[in-house]
Formats: sequence, C-alpha cells, structure tokens
Amino acid sequence: MRVLEADLTWTGNRFESGVQVAVGEDGRIAAVGALGRTPDARLAGRALLPGFVTAHSHAFQRGLRGRGETFPRGSGSFWTWREAMYDLVSRLDAATFRALCVQTFREMRAAGVTAVGEFHYFHHREESPDAADYEFDELVLAAAAEAGLRIVLIQSYYHTGAVGQPLEGAQRRFRSPSPKVYWEQMERLAGLIDDSNRQHGQGRQSLAASVHSLRAAGPDDLAAIYDEARRRDLPFHIHVEEQQREIEDVLAYYGQRPMALLLETLGTATDLTAIHCTHTDGEEMERFLAAGGTVCFCPLTEGNLGDGIPAAPRSHPTSGAFCLGSDSNARISPIEEMRWLEYGQRLATESRGALRNEEGNVAKLLLDAATLGGAKSLGIDAGRIAPGLWADFAALDLGSPMLAGWTPETLLEAVIFGATEGVVAATCVGGEWGEGR
Ligand SMILES: [Zn+2]
Repeated sequence: MRVLEADLTWTGNRFESGVQVAVGEDGRIAAVGALGRTPDARLAGRALLPGFVTAHSHAFQRGLRGRGETFPRGSGSFWTWREAMYDLVSRLDAATFRALCVQTFREMRAAGVTAVGEFHYFHHREESPDAADYEFDELVLAAAAEAGLRIVLIQSYYHTGAVGQPLEGAQRRFRSPSPKVYWEQMERLAGLIDDSNRQHGQGRQSLAASVHSLRAAGPDDLAAIYDEARRRDLPFHIHVEEQQREIEDVLAYYGQRPMALLLETLGTATDLTAIHCTHTDGEEMERFLAAGGTVCFCPLTEGNLGDGIPAAPRSHPTSGAFCLGSDSNARISPIEEMRWLEYGQRLATESRGALRNEEGNVAKLLLDAATLGGAKSLGIDAGRIAPGLWADFAALDLGSPMLAGWTPETLLEAVIFGATEGVVAATCVGGEWGEGR
C-alpha cells in the first residue's frame, strides 16, 4: 500500500486539499480522504485528477496527421478524407501499423489519458478477398502494453463496403465474414488478454464488441452481435450519423434513419455507445439516452473533417450520458476536446453555458464526459478517484504559467478553457507513474 498526497485532489465535485489516496498492490485505490498517514509520495505543486478516458480512437489514423490539408481540386469532405485514409490503409505493413499505434498511445498518455477505447476494424495484413489472419488485432494490444496504457479493444465487425454493397480494395483489410467467425476471433483475443493481464499482474486490457456502422453491416448482423455482447456482458459501440450521406443511404435502403433503425432493431440501448451522432435528430437522441445509451462526441475530429455540430440535448445533463473520443487522432488533447465540445455548442446556439449541469456548471459536466462517461462507456472501473477503482490519475502542474491566478474554485475552468495538455505533469495507470511531457 502506498499513500499519495497532492496539493489538491478532485473528489468528484471540487478540488480539495489534505486528501490522501491509498493505492493497493493490486493497482486499485484502497482509500481516499483524511487518512492521517505520512504520505509515501508528496506530490507538491500538483493537482490530482482522474486520468482522462478516450472512448473512441483509431490509432493508426495518426499516420495522416498533417496530410490532406490542402485542397487543389476544390473543397474536400469526409469522403475525400476517407480516400486518403484508405490510401494509408493500403500501404501499411505490420511494423508501421504497430509503430503508429505505439506513437499514438504514448502521445495520449503524455496528454493525461490513462485509458483508451480503441475502435479497431483494421484486422488483416493483406487486401485478399478472403483475408483471415487478424494479425493487426494483436499488434494493437501489444502497442498499448508497450505504452503502459489501459486499453479496451473494441473489436469491430465490418462486413459491407457501403449499405448493401460488397467490400472493395483497401476495405478488404477490415473484413469480418460472419458473426460466427467474429466471435471465434473474440475468443482468441480473450485468451491473449488473459495472458497479458497475468503478465502485468493487473487487468489492464479488456474487450468490447462493435459493429462499425450501418454502412458496414445490416440490421440482422447488428442484432446478432449486440445480443451476444449483452449475453457476455460486453460494452457495444457503433458509429451513428456522422455524415448526411449515411442517413440518406440508410433511409433509401431501409426506409428509416440510422438511429431510428438502431433503436427499433435492438429495442434498448443498454451498454450501447453511439459515436458522433452529428446529424441525429434531437428527439431521437433523447430516446437513445433515455434507453440507457451513451453518446461519444469527437469534437476535434468532427471539426477537422467538417462533419458538423451535433445537437447535444440540454435537458439531459446526467453524468455519464456523454463521453469523448480522439477518433482520427489528428490532434490528441482531452483538454481541447472538452473545450471544443462546449465551444461548438456556443457557436451553434449563439449562447454560453450550453452544456451545463443543474447547478449551471459547465466544466464539471465536461470533465465527467472526459473521465467517468468514458469509463462507463468502456465498462472499466475508472473515471473517479474513489475506493475500489483503478489508480488511474493525471497530475497537473499548478506552477504552469497557463494556470497562473488559479484558485481551488476556478482551477477546473482554468484548465479546460485556458490550458493545453502542457499542464499535465505525469500520469499514473494502475498505480504506476509515467512521465508527462
Ligand atoms: Zn471513428
């Protein structure tokens, strides 16, 4: 057991001083409060936050950073960006793929992230029409272990290239032939994860299920995989309504918009996270949240791709209803994701304080999205500094000039609206500290 004491500790509603955090040998928090112990580690000049959770990432897309930002043939779109992404996919060998994942996961950790939900659909070494090696699945897990990051591998089912269309070209490296083969691979991955967790003496890796989108699978496969995920008590993720064209295609083929089709097909949203919801009808988003769903926004990626600004519901500020993802990893900064979630709403509604909780507090709602909302979405014991949860922390440098003038009452707002990830001094995953930047 080791006892930590920082100058300030986030206890769920505010920063408090004099708070000690006892961390057990198992990497979990044993106790929090005025424990009256002599601390083993005095974190002077530091404020302790729960580590950030990035609930939606495609680590390999880090390879596109800085590319595709000039537009010689006129303005681009999500779909022209996707062509550039497929070009990257067709060129990546195993070593480069793994190196990109390690780079992304290290950068996340330096930005204060302690757990990632890696939405992984890039399974195969080759573009062959019957590719079945799944070599890249293991590389993602190995890369996260190398970076010391907690990972939930969100293994994604990708069956069609567009609504009702076969896979083509680079998409064949994403191929999932059937739900049966999908679950066989999940069994193999569960075995690998058990080995990795034993090796590290902790549960740092776990699995979630996923269907890429209603572009990549029909309602029958969606229902089959979701039902089996429920039976196995695994979280389930799916991209929903990021682009108008997805809505048009699904509407033309199935006679319903994707969110409506999703809700009708599954009948519930328990343990279900919908990624983006950029063009989701406000009433349908309310229905989805009321059915137990979580919405994952990815403001920096949505901004980079020109997706649009989602209509985040105002009447549903429940903690854990929202989470955040770095998605394309064009920029990795949970602080900036929080800021732009609120700023997007401000710009769209010409008002301030769009995403506030019942006390009118914006920053707390944003922090909850970046921590406990992500942990809920991924099904991990994290997201708060509380007994029984993993000892996953981000330590902030209170001496940073970016935070000058802070008080315990304004520190969270100063971080979210005035700072970059440069204020992250160090992160801790399961009780093990690593350097910040
Ligand atoms: Zn995505």
